[in-house]
Amino acid sequence: MKLIGSVFLSFLILLISAFVDKDAVSDIMDMRAESGLCTSEMMPADPICDVPKRTSEEDFCNSVNQKFRNYSWYSIRCNPKRWNVYDHSNNGNPLFYQEFGFDDINNKGPVNLILCGVHGDEPPSIYMCFQLTRHILFDKPEALKNFKAVIAPIVNPDGFFANTRQNGNGIDVNRNLPTEDWDAMSHKIWARYKKDPRKYPGARGGSEPESRLQTYLIDRYKPDKIISVHAPLGFLDYDGPGDQKNYNLIRVEQRARYLGLNIEANSKRFVKFVDYRFFPGSLGNYAGNEREIPTYTVELPTVRHTEAHRYWSTMRYALIKALKFQVYDGNETNPFFEIQDITQQAVNKDYHPRDSILHDIDTDDISRIMVKAGSDMDEEVHVDIAAD
Ligand SMILES: [Zn+2]
Repeated sequence: MKLIGSVFLSFLILLISAFVDKDAVSDIMDMRAESGLCTSEMMPADPICDVPKRTSEEDFCNSVNQKFRNYSWYSIRCNPKRWNVYDHSNNGNPLFYQEFGFDDINNKGPVNLILCGVHGDEPPSIYMCFQLTRHILFDKPEALKNFKAVIAPIVNPDGFFANTRQNGNGIDVNRNLPTEDWDAMSHKIWARYKKDPRKYPGARGGSEPESRLQTYLIDRYKPDKIISVHAPLGFLDYDGPGDQKNYNLIRVEQRARYLGLNIEANSKRFVKFVDYRFFPGSLGNYAGNEREIPTYTVELPTVRHTEAHRYWSTMRYALIKALKFQVYDGNETNPFFEIQDITQQAVNKDYHPRDSILHDIDTDDISRIMVKAGSDMDEEVHVDIAAD
């Protein structure tokens, strides 16, 4: 009888689903999943039962904290009350983010978007976001007078739990953002790199909830700059105004690149400033190239969780300084901000995204840019090495 009842309920739900909107269907799926009907012997082929049960914020943070303890990361903690949930991952984990410093009307500082754990097998990245949150909330809350920050501390929780680069769907989230070259180029480039499953871009640009989390935060907050923390390449890559350009930089391009050099110097050259190419579906392409948002990819030197605290101690000062830095200081604006509706940007005839495949630049060029940019900067942004 129970089985017949389940079949009938399933049919009823599908019938109702045909007449209601997508959100309502997902609510029904949640109810169905939560009712326990999808958990046992019944109907493995039922598509509704393929939707994983959503993990509550409390249970999610408990699992995160367990993992932190396994790593001996005792100074950070996932607090479910601290974060907003944008959506859920393929495996039902909440996708967290939070804004900091927006409630102070006197705070005229730049808006920063900080992304960690885009690749799940790079745990020191996640450590950095939780330490940064701790720093601005508890250790030095006065720092929040000088900047605003939107932090997504574990962009790819499925990957974090499984220790994989990809998300729960087997997709590299940093190849899945809906860049304009995605349809034409993503699978070609993937094939050129021997179809490494770790870098699979998915079947469609922007198909993944973790990708949509990032595009949502960019759309909603229109950040002045973005810092995305990865490992283990050990450098600081830059995409944005002045990207791949070695001469005749306008002021904002100089400032954006100069910030990269500041981060390098303030981290005591722990992460060396480079200007590598970007890929179809990558954040550097979506935000830096297409939207001209200065985008800094911090590549920590290893993925070892035992090194995470040392990396944070080394990078902390450089990161906090970077968050205060005004790339757009009133004399120039980001063209992205002039067009509030992002969908209009794609149809704007004056908008010409550059070719996505560009050459690496020479390190000699970087030192020339450093000299040039350094001569035109305000005193407040001079390079100074931290004592702590
Ligand atoms: Zn990575």
